Amino acid sequence: MDTLIKVLVKENFAPERILPGAPMSRYTTFRVGGRADVLVNIASANEISIALRAAHQAGVPVTIIGNGSNLVVRDGGIRGLVLRICGSFSAVTREEGDVIHAQSGALLGACAQFAMREGLDGLAEVAGIPGTIGGGVIMNAGAYGSDLSQVVTRVDAVSCATGAPVSFEGKALGFGYRRSALMQENIVVTGVTMQLRPGDPDAIRARMEDLARQRREKQPLDFPSAGSTFKRPEGLFAAKLIDDCGLRGLHVGDAQVSPKHAGFIVNTGNATATDVLSLMALVRKHVLDATGVILEPEVRILGEDA
Ligand SMILES: Cc1cc2nc3c(=O)[nH]c(=O)nc-3n(C[C@H](O)[C@H](O)[C@H](O)COP(=O)(O)OP(=O)(O)OC[C@H]3O[C@@H](n4cnc5c(N)ncnc54)[C@H](O)[C@@H]3O)c2cc1C
Repeated sequence: MDTLIKVLVKENFAPERILPGAPMSRYTTFRVGGRADVLVNIASANEISIALRAAHQAGVPVTIIGNGSNLVVRDGGIRGLVLRICGSFSAVTREEGDVIHAQSGALLGACAQFAMREGLDGLAEVAGIPGTIGGGVIMNAGAYGSDLSQVVTRVDAVSCATGAPVSFEGKALGFGYRRSALMQENIVVTGVTMQLRPGDPDAIRARMEDLARQRREKQPLDFPSAGSTFKRPEGLFAAKLIDDCGLRGLHVGDAQVSPKHAGFIVNTGNATATDVLSLMALVRKHVLDATGVILEPEVRILGEDA
């Protein structure tokens, strides 16, 4: 990793944002996972290019994360370079008409607040999802009957292989339920363009507040998690299947099927990724045995075992 760090420093990457041995538990909302060899906090498009070039020169793999709100990082951590794009590199601007553009590190809540202030509707339903717009388009994040596929018209990115800019529009985005064609591409999302519609700011704010209240009431937001652990099987609800199997409260170490919402696995203290993954396997087995339904993880699993 020394070569990687030397190249980053030589290319004037801000040293305070190069973090060797970064604990991934600090950069994921589940608060589990081992260390990354090197994590860099990205603050500009130029830094994405520098980081990709440096990783290429050092011959190390690259992993991209946003707010880490849909991730389980295994206890052995992540080899190579982790590019974290969250919070910085997050400008949101209004373009012509009812269109907004967000840099990929912008949080969905910030995009929704911006749109609301501009009198633009279309993001209220995703406002409470604690991820970035970059991670959001990869996952086609959504809630309350809406998802990003309904507003995203264009995604700008950089190819990890060549460093060249690439963009995706229309069918090339390949949006489906909690997936996109972008998942298969080896890219770093840099910007997202969204077509919104005019709306009354007060009405949009009221809807956002109501949806936030519903989240607080139904979801175990007091404990670290990555949201819904499993995807909704066609025509069914994962939480109901898990609940019907009597699995609420089931735990492995400090990883627990939330007693408040069976669709969430939560970290009640010092869970490890191994605890979380063992519990996921146990839940899948119980549900398969009892109902014949295979639960597919919604969370993305990264890194190596300890
Ligand atoms: C309490 C809670 C509630 C949640 N509720 C919902 C919900 O209602 N609906 C929903 O859909 N999700 C929900 N989630 C899950 C999560 O917030 C979303 O999936 C979110 O879109 C992930 O964004 P992120 O920035 O955290 O991405 P991460 O979790 O960091 O990454 C997700 C994936 O995107 C990739 N990625 C991230 N950024 C980039 C980028 N710039 N370029 C290329 N690839 C990138 C990563 O490699 C990874 O594969 C919830 C999570 C929590 C903790």
